Amino acid sequence: MKYVLAGASGFLGKALTRDLVADGHQVLRLVRRTPSTSDEIRWNPATGDLDPASLRDPDVVVNLAGANIGRPWTPTYRNAIRESRVSTTSTLATAVSQLDRHPVLITQSGIGGYGTDLGDRILTEDSELGDGFLSDVVRLWEGALEPARAAGSRVAALRTGVVLDRQAPAFQLLSLPFRLGLGGRLGSGTQYFPVVSLTDWIRAVRFVADTDSISGPVNVTLPTPTTNKEFTEALATALNRPAFVPVPAFAMKAALGEFAWELLGSKRALPTRLQSAGFPFHHPTVTTALSAALA
Ligand code: NDP
Repeated sequence: MKYVLAGASGFLGKALTRDLVADGHQVLRLVRRTPSTSDEIRWNPATGDLDPASLRDPDVVVNLAGANIGRPWTPTYRNAIRESRVSTTSTLATAVSQLDRHPVLITQSGIGGYGTDLGDRILTEDSELGDGFLSDVVRLWEGALEPARAAGSRVAALRTGVVLDRQAPAFQLLSLPFRLGLGGRLGSGTQYFPVVSLTDWIRAVRFVADTDSISGPVNVTLPTPTTNKEFTEALATALNRPAFVPVPAFAMKAALGEFAWELLGSKRALPTRLQSAGFPFHHPTVTTALSAALA
């Protein structure tokens, strides 16, 4: 199949590209600079500039672009977080809507859209999005798919938890204190902490691309939700390190600002759409997902 990827230079984009190419799929990458190879296509999402013909009649278009949310959310940076997701999705959706043959359009999205701290409540794709900055971003990000949907494309938004892999910058940050013998639960540790292995994330993207019955929001998280305390214990065991040093909530807020709430707040999300479509998770538990991440 012919895939077009936006954000292909990022962590998830590189991993997905490797997997698709290894299986013989064609991958074209959208770049915001002068293309240096024939499989790169120039675009400018900030101005909406993308020639639909340059996509070369794709089967699947995937948006993985977005400014890093792990930096302090100053007013200027909030704008970058929002615009880098909404403008890229909207530019792709508009271009896709102008094609004669409508490809599947998939955008990455975030599990943070359900809200910040939702206790034990089970979150499926039918749950309402919440209030607050990330919920607003997710609403606009997913809403930007509309031109493509209206024109007849199947569209999907992957509401993804933290993707676990030893090379993932977020996972390296989470596991560094453990490697130094200073690991511990974050805050109370009772909060549900949505995660997924990189292998299952890649398989989920491809499953959604291949499965005609799936559209709309799709939670991409473990089918057995884990608390931060369980995650911490499993990570300490997998690394053969202690987990005695809980990180207090105030220290996380001081270090990470509002982003700390994404780690301290509880989100008990279930991947209901994937499961009802028969998606077989390779790593359904925190233990198996961490073993895969550290293999
Ligand atoms: P990376 O930061 O590794 O890559 C993001 C990509 O987005 C970059 O390669 C860059 O591509 C593009 N980008 C960055 N800033 C801008 C901008 N201002 N305008 C347009 N494009 C920009 O992220 P990941 O690969 O880890 O994640 C990809 C997406 O998935 C992000 O939206 C992220 O929030 C989301 N996500 C990630 C999770 C994870 O665990 N990794 C979990 C849940 C969601 P280029 O410079 O080539 O254009």
